[in-house]
Amino acid sequence: MPRTRATPAGTPDGRPGTHEAERLLPPPRDLSRLCIHTVTTRPWSLPEAAAAYERAGIPAITVWREAVAGHGPAEAHRIIADHGLTIVSYVRGGFFAAPTAAARRAAVDENLRIIDEAAALGAPLVVLVCGAVPGQLLETSRAQIRDGLERILPYAEAAGVRLGIEALHPVYADSRSAINTLRQANDLADDLDSPALGVVVDVYHLWWDPDLRDEIERSGRNGRLFAFHICDWKTPTEHLLLDRGLMGEGCIPLRRIRTWVEAAGFDGYREVEIFSESYWREDQHDFLEKIKHAYLTHA
Ligand code: ZN
Repeated sequence: MPRTRATPAGTPDGRPGTHEAERLLPPPRDLSRLCIHTVTTRPWSLPEAAAAYERAGIPAITVWREAVAGHGPAEAHRIIADHGLTIVSYVRGGFFAAPTAAARRAAVDENLRIIDEAAALGAPLVVLVCGAVPGQLLETSRAQIRDGLERILPYAEAAGVRLGIEALHPVYADSRSAINTLRQANDLADDLDSPALGVVVDVYHLWWDPDLRDEIERSGRNGRLFAFHICDWKTPTEHLLLDRGLMGEGCIPLRRIRTWVEAAGFDGYREVEIFSESYWREDQHDFLEKIKHAYLTHA
């Protein structure tokens, strides 16, 4: 007997079998949990971004390393604090995979510096893009990533900085990350089992994954769901790195994923992370208003 015909009422484990049957959360009522990544408004310097976010009523900021350059983390902290913004994360560490032992040691040292910078900045979390080497087996890269994490975890724990493994879409498996599903990120975090190590759910990377709901539940259950990044996947996507869409502009079922993330116990910020050559060409104040509208409508 064919088993493919699920009844509309639900699957055997009692879960809704269709999108329509799910009870989704309403859109956000206000901006109190909105955070913006500095890279989203890349044309602005850190002082410009912090001032503009404050004026726009945005309460929180995730700081990219490039935004701190030229200020230093302590001064960056003061700039952000002057505008009353909460610092959510520091982006980014990782890139542990490398073809030589010397390069892998250098990557570990670089991550220790990044942890120091995060501590000086007052960022409670470093987001990790774990790395991959073109032509190297993904299993080999994963073993190197595990090894690199093991080396930096005691330092992060001592510094009071948490590390969030961000799984990247498999289109980046050649050179950016050999961790491509939330299951792999959860496995790694479970294996290393440190209170300082968790995962980051970025809808751009994970929306397609049939195991996403289960793995979000798992990370929440284990207290390892550290951050939630939002944007959209445009059709067609003109550039796989620099053509992310505003929420609602593409095919990601954002409300559905947000419902899963918050049902798993996540009560942190919803972080808008958009790399977009076309939005960076716009007036960034106009873009910020578009972000707020898209957030209140589609997040
Ligand atoms: Zn992200």
